[in-house]
Amino acid sequence: MQTKRPTTPAAEEILGGYFPVLDHGFVSLVDYMGSDEDVERAARVSYGYGTRKRSATRGLVRYLRRHRHTTPLEMVEFKFHCAMPMFVARQWVRHRTASINEYSGRYSLMPLLFYAPQADHFALQSRSNNQGREDEAASRELWRAAVERWDRSRREAAGAYQWLLEEDVARELARIDLPLSTYTQWYWKIDLHNLLHFLTLRVDPHAQWEIRAFAQVMAGMVKRVAPLSYEAWVDYDLLGSPFSRVEREALARLVEADPHGGIRPRKGATVLSSAELEGMGLSPREVRELADKLSPGSRPDFELDLSLMREADEVAREMARAVPGSDVGAGGEVNGGGSEEREDGGGG
Ligand SMILES: Cc1cc2nc3c(=O)[nH]c(=O)nc-3n(C[C@H](O)[C@H](O)[C@H](O)COP(=O)(O)OP(=O)(O)OC[C@H]3O[C@@H](n4cnc5c(N)ncnc54)[C@H](O)[C@@H]3O)c2cc1C
Repeated sequence: MQTKRPTTPAAEEILGGYFPVLDHGFVSLVDYMGSDEDVERAARVSYGYGTRKRSATRGLVRYLRRHRHTTPLEMVEFKFHCAMPMFVARQWVRHRTASINEYSGRYSLMPLLFYAPQADHFALQSRSNNQGREDEAASRELWRAAVERWDRSRREAAGAYQWLLEEDVARELARIDLPLSTYTQWYWKIDLHNLLHFLTLRVDPHAQWEIRAFAQVMAGMVKRVAPLSYEAWVDYDLLGSPFSRVEREALARLVEADPHGGIRPRKGATVLSSAELEGMGLSPREVRELADKLSPGSRPDFELDLSLMREADEVAREMARAVPGSDVGAGGEVNGGGSEEREDGGGG
């Protein structure tokens, strides 16, 4: 039977496909409900599925985004199946406006998959940001030494987990010393409004690179389900930025509205020095941030690479093989310890 529901061809193309992220993770769009047209229908509280001009829908979607009229976006929903290292899950789970059902380590055996950062993403502690890493990768030598140590401690942790299971210790106890690098997975359902909020925070360069890798794939999925909402999000949220009162006052010293339309430089406007900006009430940090706000960021490209998309069965088999007791998982093999060199960029 043909569905009466509105569907989007670009979303149908990826539905149920698995996109790899990091060394053993993935994101799959399991289901979605609605698209840009549903944002408009909800905003207008329309009858039925009448079609309107795309330009009219685009204008409305952009107006809603600019004016923070967000509830129509809550009418569009996304259901994902994702697998991520535990430390990524801990950051992800802070977003409280989604419904989650996570893989149970009390009920099921944990796959012995461990995340190992690739050489390109292995960096020293940032000197300017306590909560981050340097942009430049650390030396290959240091990376190799780290991987060697990780391999060793992971073999130990995996061995202890397997031994406890063999001794019939409860799974909920056997798993307690598995490291944060092991993978968990969940179903995650969220509406478009809250998903865009999540993506704004998690594709941002301040977020940890590993969670950004997941958010970037999900942004590519949003682009396929609701391209106009995605475009408005990029323009008004991701690359847009609000100005504070003092910042507006500073800018108003430099430019003004042109009576014939548009804006023009204010007569006699000159350079506003950092000292003057601070004199107006901005902190030195705000002065730096204002300069950043005024340099337009480049448009991100979250386009999905369809050649990476994998079948659910194939991914499921891989996860099953990593569980202790399976043909491959038994005998202390640690997947992803990374003793072999994987120095290419990687990530999703
Ligand atoms: C770069 C970065 C660094 C971070 N560092 C830390 C850290 O060091 N330590 C730490 O603990 N956390 C940290 N966080 C987590 C952060 O503080 C937020 O908890 C997380 O980003 C979720 O944001 P949120 O509450 O806006 O999102 P959601 O939980 O998705 O909520 C969405 C929105 O719903 C509303 N909302 C939801 N629940 C409530 C509520 N109970 N009351 C009122 N309004 C609500 C709010 O408007 C909220 O913005 C970090 C986050 C980022 C992005």
